[in-house]
Amino acid sequence: MSDIISLLPDHVANQIAAGEVVQRPSSVVKELLENSIDAGATDVHLIIQDAGKSLIQIVDNGKGMSYADARMAFERHATSKIKLADDLFNLHTMGFRGEALASIAAVAQVEMKTRPHGEELGTELRIEGSKVVHQKVCQCAEGTSIAVSNLFFNIPARRQFLKSDNVENRHIIDAFEYVALANPGITFRFTQNNVELFHLPSGNYRQRIASVFGKKYNERLVPVEEVTGVVALNGFVLKPEFARKTRGEQFFFVNDRFIKNSYLHHAVSHAFEHLIKSGDHPAYFLYMQIDPKRIDVNIHPTKTEIKFDDEKAIYAIIRSAVKHALGQFNIAPTLDFNQNVEDIPVLDPTRRIVPPTIQVDPNFNPFLEDDTPSKPVSGGISKSYSPSSNSFSLGGDTTNWQSLYRESEEPVEQIQVSADWNTTTETKSNGTHFQLDNRFVITKVKSGLIAIHQQRAHRRVHYERFVRILNDHHAASQQLLFPITLHLNGGDMELVRGLNDTLHRLGFEIEYPSGQQLLVQGIPMHLTESEVPIVLDQLVDDVKSDADVFRNDPTHAMAKSLSSHIGIKSGQVLNAEEMQHLIDELFACEMPYTDIFGRPIIVQIGVDELDKKFK
Ligand code: ADP
Ligand code: MG
Repeated sequence: MSDIISLLPDHVANQIAAGEVVQRPSSVVKELLENSIDAGATDVHLIIQDAGKSLIQIVDNGKGMSYADARMAFERHATSKIKLADDLFNLHTMGFRGEALASIAAVAQVEMKTRPHGEELGTELRIEGSKVVHQKVCQCAEGTSIAVSNLFFNIPARRQFLKSDNVENRHIIDAFEYVALANPGITFRFTQNNVELFHLPSGNYRQRIASVFGKKYNERLVPVEEVTGVVALNGFVLKPEFARKTRGEQFFFVNDRFIKNSYLHHAVSHAFEHLIKSGDHPAYFLYMQIDPKRIDVNIHPTKTEIKFDDEKAIYAIIRSAVKHALGQFNIAPTLDFNQNVEDIPVLDPTRRIVPPTIQVDPNFNPFLEDDTPSKPVSGGISKSYSPSSNSFSLGGDTTNWQSLYRESEEPVEQIQVSADWNTTTETKSNGTHFQLDNRFVITKVKSGLIAIHQQRAHRRVHYERFVRILNDHHAASQQLLFPITLHLNGGDMELVRGLNDTLHRLGFEIEYPSGQQLLVQGIPMHLTESEVPIVLDQLVDDVKSDADVFRNDPTHAMAKSLSSHIGIKSGQVLNAEEMQHLIDELFACEMPYTDIFGRPIIVQIGVDELDKKFK
């Protein structure tokens, strides 16, 4: 019988091993960034073309490699990080396996230029699919530049398996953020398709978090600190009101490397209990320093999951440190959901909100003379809301409430309406619309009084206007004399850019001169300039936290986000003309009675109700 066992050729063995380390472009990004940091770089530049499919390049100012080391670095199990047999445990504790460069070179075309500090000349090395194409002395900058082109060029099946550019870019941004957040002392730049997405100057943890996620994070962070024999813990949690329904900003770092750990995540969630709505996830950036002997990083090939010897103790420490931090910064006692009722939706906003079914007395028209004491709706338009059925019940039993206002467009009704609304014109002289507590517009109708919640009313007006524009595909835009410049971080910028078509339809005209800056040249007719930053900021936040709604019902989600922080606010003084305008706009709405969360906008107090009170 002939022999059947043969050794796999080296390049095949390398390709198989590569599969473990290099799953997608972001794996290359992670390995190369970590190598630059290990090499002591203080300045690292990541350059990406086509979601890493055509180019992933990293340029650092680290210690560089000698001519011989440059070649050695690409051998499997070549690492400069373990020298003595005693250091062998480091294979497990630090995850140095000397595999990354060999694996990357097995599945891509790699060009490296490297020069150690103090040397006059550097080395240029080109490897394609594990084969050295050339190695020569060259002129180059101190430090190392590694360009990885055409990933998986020699394994078409793997290349086809890559996801869309959007998905791969998201993974790359994540990998970049993990490393950048773990190493705030290092300056990072990230250029994507020739546009600078991030430029992160060196600083402390707080500054790094703010430069990655935006300046507004600065005031959202609550510091956490606890040093024990088991772990030195520090970092931040986000104030409870910034908890999100979708997971995202949950970062644990152990010995300066990002890790995932659902058990420890639970420890933080536990500390937030009763401070956030159930189902929401607290956001955190927690950095742990732990004796490397007491962890095992090699349970996962890409090293984002690690095992702790003292897992239970670390759980308890994290939980109590976070609780303590929230307590010390007075987060817990001052939190009162009732006070924030304007911003906290009654409904889970990930649920599709269908137009409520309203049941009213068809004969009841607040604009018509009607003093029938037996009117079925005692509080007029006050109503009860049933979240389970998403419907409203007004006490009456018909559904043609629209007729109240629709018919009012007919001339005859118009007279009726304006006869009543004449109080309005009178208002200007004798003020029959008036504001109560700077929150409600009170006005007289023939059958009593109505109180309009000014903030909700105006948001409803805006919401419906945005929906209309999005459905009609056209919007007027007001050109700004002086464009508004906004600064966003790279990830958020990508997000706005992705929404550009929709924003354009709404009347925004935005230019993107750089990766962190956008220029707003035109805005929708009904926005004011000062609202633009608020609206875009909110939109970015909402897209991140309500991604599902944006996917499933983009028109509603977009209109909801854009309208949620603009317009007339509670507490704002309105003059007669503004009150009149608001009332007119509100009653032109499809659904003037409730806001998108189902909360009342209008409450009526009927004359009959007043009568009762005088009995
Ligand atoms: P490991 O990081 O586990 O040692 P790698 O395959 O990632 O294995 O790297 C192999 C070796 O190449 C490293 O140990 C280091 O000596 C060298 N090296 C890699 N990248 C750089 C860099 N950017 N600057 C200097 N040396 C580097
Ligand atoms: Mg490495």
